[in-house]
Amino acid sequence: MTDKINVEEIFGEDVFSLSTMRERLPKSVFRKVVSIMDEGGELTRAEADVIAKAMKDWAMENGATHYTHWFQPLTGITAEKHDSFVNSPDREGHMMMEFSGKELIMGEPDASSFPSGGLRSTFEARGYTTWDVTSPAFLKKTGAGSTLCIPTAFCSYRGEALDKKTPLLRSMEALSTQAVRLLRILGDTETRKVIPSVGAEQEYFIVNAEKYKKRPDLIFTGRTLFGAPAPKGQEMEDHYFGVIREHVGEYMKDLNTELWSLGVPAKTQHNEVAPAQHELAPIYENANIACDHNQIVMEAMKRVAEHHGLRCLLHEKPFAGVNGSGKHNNWSLTTDKGQNLLDPGESPEDNVQFLLVLSCILKAVDIHADLLRQSASDVGNDHRLGENEAPPAIVSVFLGEQLGDVVKQLLETGTAAKHIQGGVLRTGISTMPDLRMDATDRNRTSPFAFTGNKFEFRMVGSADSISSCNTVLNAIVAEAFSDASDRLEKAASLDIAVHDLIKENLKDHQRIIFNGNGYADAWVREAARRGLPNIPSSIEAAPALTTPKAVALFERFAIFSKSELVSREEIIYETYAKTITIEARTMIDMAGRQIIPACVDYAGSLAGDVNALNEAGVSSAAGTDRLREIADNIDTAQNALRSLQALDAKCISLKDVKEKAFFCKDSMKPAMIALRRPCDRLENLIDKSVWPFPTYEDLMFEV
Ligand code: ADP
Ligand code: MG
Repeated sequence: MTDKINVEEIFGEDVFSLSTMRERLPKSVFRKVVSIMDEGGELTRAEADVIAKAMKDWAMENGATHYTHWFQPLTGITAEKHDSFVNSPDREGHMMMEFSGKELIMGEPDASSFPSGGLRSTFEARGYTTWDVTSPAFLKKTGAGSTLCIPTAFCSYRGEALDKKTPLLRSMEALSTQAVRLLRILGDTETRKVIPSVGAEQEYFIVNAEKYKKRPDLIFTGRTLFGAPAPKGQEMEDHYFGVIREHVGEYMKDLNTELWSLGVPAKTQHNEVAPAQHELAPIYENANIACDHNQIVMEAMKRVAEHHGLRCLLHEKPFAGVNGSGKHNNWSLTTDKGQNLLDPGESPEDNVQFLLVLSCILKAVDIHADLLRQSASDVGNDHRLGENEAPPAIVSVFLGEQLGDVVKQLLETGTAAKHIQGGVLRTGISTMPDLRMDATDRNRTSPFAFTGNKFEFRMVGSADSISSCNTVLNAIVAEAFSDASDRLEKAASLDIAVHDLIKENLKDHQRIIFNGNGYADAWVREAARRGLPNIPSSIEAAPALTTPKAVALFERFAIFSKSELVSREEIIYETYAKTITIEARTMIDMAGRQIIPACVDYAGSLAGDVNALNEAGVSSAAGTDRLREIADNIDTAQNALRSLQALDAKCISLKDVKEKAFFCKDSMKPAMIALRRPCDRLENLIDKSVWPFPTYEDLMFEV
């Protein structure tokens, strides 16, 4: 319980980090790696061989037997195929473990079982994984032993991206190029690179493993498909920031230790709003590393839970009636000199560069609100966005009072003379210092909020990869920067041109700014009046990927080709239909083989009891009444079950993936709700001891 953890010692010990490379590589090779990280370029075969050998030696000294090209296919999770370092034994039967530069740099997994949305024809099943030099290799220690994981990008035979990392890297390059271009115009002669920084706050639920195993819905779909509300939900607001339960605390301690060893700067942990819900936030990092690390965090959360008799639920809506889980994607822009371009400094209105950047971001978000909405959507997140929970499905930007005021002054007068000072919070306690209040106030209902020196994109789902939203953010801002540079490069007087451009951006795109309550119905009406898109579901958001506007954007910066975008849209429909179908079949199974039989059984014995009472001359009106209600609900459930089965059969017969997806949304989902309703009602009507699986109270309150 009290064994000490030396964080400085363990931090990054399972990472083939720059410092490990410095120790183990010849100077010239080390310098080449650093230069590729900073400026791009390619390794020679000889250099790759040297690095591979050093990596293998290090991995084996640390217990590794296998290596894998670790990649992020369009399933949203990571994929790995382990190969051992084993070679053919020599004549005398000795084993010399080997790992070549070729094996390090490139892998050739069979791509045919990963989603490609039509990009890959069967005769071209080959896919290639290539080493991403900018993200360090690491050792994953699991039940399978210790495996050297090499972060890679995954492409088809023709070089089309089949993963989430490739477009992200392309978008980071585009953003950097355009940002540096803009900075040059503004007189910055030094900055060579601008890197998006990302910190992803990850929410999750923890449940007891034994109870989890009794719930087919959790096993097959990651969320509960049945369940009457517990007598207590989150209304007391006593879980948020509450004392962390011992059992969960032990889990968090192990999780942190594992993450620190893997070089993930896990920083903050706390209980979240819903019972059994928690959050972990790392310190922000380069967007590419942050995306890899978020995948590592999600994997570790699940793996470590198993060692504690627990299960981690990353689904966006594991339980109806209480909050679901999201992922806040904090995003800012950092130069290679360490300057944050989103830092307003002491007086924002004087900071022309900041205002120009800000106005470009507003323009980008307004023009591409549909793409941002799309980037944060997945099947699970449909339970949150637009469903009266978490941020609304309408993208808007929160600036806060201080910046909002600056914008208003700029629009009204053309200059911003004064601004509201960030106040000082006097503590009134002599032993405590006065705290400088953050000038940007908080707004928890905004999907895209400026929080001092970064934007917090709050729409992303907890189970989703953060690569998509960051790819879109980088791309749309690169476009706005590029447009700005085009204008300013031609300007006769830079000062006037910059000023005019800021004003124009603010004027043309001010409709995207909204500082009020994003959850209120009034906002939905107001947003409609402003012409902002309100896209209710993930499959309705999917076409945003292939509008002429989106294709032009992504092709202009070589982030996606049109065929890559079309394939991604296709995969969304496919995944949606598969997910809903699995959920529907799980419901059919649970209702047909567990709930209804248990209730019929119980009704039978209750009928016997009621008869016995009648025969004894003590007629029980309450008993009869209850029996009636149970029987009615069993009938309703049985009919709903039949309807859902019929719809499932119909769905199978549909060929077009888009049609299938919309059939699932418009016909299957309502039928699933119709089946759930009587079953949840039955849960409250029959004896708890005969209910066939753990209930909401069992799952959420007794972990
Ligand atoms: P909040 O604003 O939600 O209260 P924090 O300030 O604790 O939270 O930060 C939340 C997340 O934002 C953390 O992952 C943190 O590292 C990250 N973050 C902080 N500053 C930046 C920044 N400049 N750019 C990107 N992410 C940042
Ligand atoms: Mg936050």
